[in-house]
Amino acid sequence: MHDLFHAYILLGPLEETQKEAIKIAKTANCLEKNDGFCDYCKNCVKIEKGVFADLVEVKPEGSSVKIESIRDIIFDSYLSPVEGKKKVYVIYEADKMTLEAQNSILKTLEEPPSQSIFILLSENIKNIIPTVISRCRVIERAKPFKKYTFDKDFVDKLFKVIIEKSLPYEKLDFFNQITNLDDKEAVLEFLSTLYRDVLVAKTNSKVKIVNEEYQDVIKNIANRLCIEEVLKIMDKINKTIEYVKSRGNENIGLFNLLLALWR
Ligand SMILES: [Zn+2]
Repeated sequence: MHDLFHAYILLGPLEETQKEAIKIAKTANCLEKNDGFCDYCKNCVKIEKGVFADLVEVKPEGSSVKIESIRDIIFDSYLSPVEGKKKVYVIYEADKMTLEAQNSILKTLEEPPSQSIFILLSENIKNIIPTVISRCRVIERAKPFKKYTFDKDFVDKLFKVIIEKSLPYEKLDFFNQITNLDDKEAVLEFLSTLYRDVLVAKTNSKVKIVNEEYQDVIKNIANRLCIEEVLKIMDKINKTIEYVKSRGNENIGLFNLLLALWR
């Protein structure tokens, strides 16, 4: 028997993850095959056509997947399937779930109803909280993080200004150093993965840490900040990345971000 899990995160381009979700839905509901799916039984055909009552899709409204939509499917997931063997919930752009929405689905993922399968589709795992990730089987259709490396001297300075109380001139000196870098976005992406690692450390989740070589620093930051502070910083970093991408003014974005981190 093709072993199905109760929750998946499918990472990668939407076209591919959507196909994968359909396959999981068919495998869970096929009337002919126990291992995989046949593609011609009543359930497989209905799933393919998008008219299967036990396949429910949730999509973002505006810029986020709202808690109300998540509450609806959580309630529904405790009911018996209408026509199939399993209810399958596909959450599109799952990284757009609000923090509230993620926390509410977390409880269901911890003790999932046996007749239901949750599938989270995402192109970007960055905004999915580690505790949610740790409850799901992650299938990657794309690399979730690009790995950045900087020379040791630069990283040491970066940590010094973020973690320790450095003097104003040291901060300014470091800011000048950053503005002279060719790839400023790399610094932002690096900070983004670093604080995500801090969150992983704080929540003791089993998610892999991206920047393993900086374990000590990650622990150090984790000890100094509470989860809410880490989430706030992650939010600031992500907003700065968006700002830099849309406006192209990297220096202002970086400067504001560093100011926020220094405080
Ligand atoms: Zn079938």
